[in-house]
Amino acid sequence: MSKHAGIARFTYNWGLATWGDMSKDGLKPNKYLLKKFFNNHVKSEFTWIKESGICQKITQYAFDNLGDAFSKFFSKKGGYPKFKKKGHHDSFTIDAGGKPIPVGGTSIKLPTIGWLKTYEGLPHTTCKSITISRTADSWFIAFAYEQEYEPTVKQHDVVGVDLGVKELATLSTGVIFPNPRHYKTHLSKLRRLSKDLSRKLKGSNNRFKARQKLARHHEAVANLRKDTLHQITTYLCKNHATIVVEDLKVSGMLANRKLAQVIADCGFYEFKRQLEYKAKKFGCEVIIADRWFPSSKTCSNCGHIQDMPLKERIYNCGSCGLSIDRDLNAAINLSRLATA
Ligand SMILES: [Zn+2]
Repeated sequence: MSKHAGIARFTYNWGLATWGDMSKDGLKPNKYLLKKFFNNHVKSEFTWIKESGICQKITQYAFDNLGDAFSKFFSKKGGYPKFKKKGHHDSFTIDAGGKPIPVGGTSIKLPTIGWLKTYEGLPHTTCKSITISRTADSWFIAFAYEQEYEPTVKQHDVVGVDLGVKELATLSTGVIFPNPRHYKTHLSKLRRLSKDLSRKLKGSNNRFKARQKLARHHEAVANLRKDTLHQITTYLCKNHATIVVEDLKVSGMLANRKLAQVIADCGFYEFKRQLEYKAKKFGCEVIIADRWFPSSKTCSNCGHIQDMPLKERIYNCGSCGLSIDRDLNAAINLSRLATA
């Protein structure tokens, strides 16, 4: 697998360098041109690519990845593609020459590579291509397949969601997702492990071990974040027909102060991404409220608007006398946007 990832990386980097050279010479490269040139003139020079047991599809997918990276760059959705480094996001994609690849259970037969065992059971289906990637010292398998979903029966028509500091999320229905407590301890362990690593001699075996430890812990924390987000987004999409959330594209410090660590770390983008694909899956609608909508400052009873410093946890309306939890008040205001 490392060998496959290495060839994918080599091909990608070769393509990226060649792309740059051609552009400098005033030519207009594209992935098809590079792929063809590579297959006809370059590949034969590198015998290790053609070794037996190596799936020859990986170089093609490497060029597709490069093409995608440049498309993103040209449409201003991403920066100029960077060279891949060994050990950073190692991955490769393979297929079975257009034939469907059967998947299912806890083992899978990869084209050319052969049988592998998986820790988790895979759904019984087929797929067209498979991407294998490495995080810390574990390998992951990813593939796309089609599945029909029945929309779930919804308990509530509308829900407003306030993402906050004290609670992770407060819903207008009164449901609260508290901030995960274990998160802080994990962060302090992360800091300790980083310190450990920085104290080890460069190039030493102990440094290698410390780095592995840190990488594993990074992965564990990342998984905790994802898990917490998944719990919220699944609950929302399964049980509500319309979901209103605030647009939180605030970056940097502001986001960190305003949001629970989990959301601040994962990014609102990931929260939104999960909501949107689960909305399709469970059959509901997601409304993203304008980020300047004064959800915290408005009284959910009479519509009066007043200043609400972050430290004030209770909204005491200066007009109608309503006294309500700050986050719940904001969530209710958001839910109203669905019918507005
Ligand atoms: Zn009021």
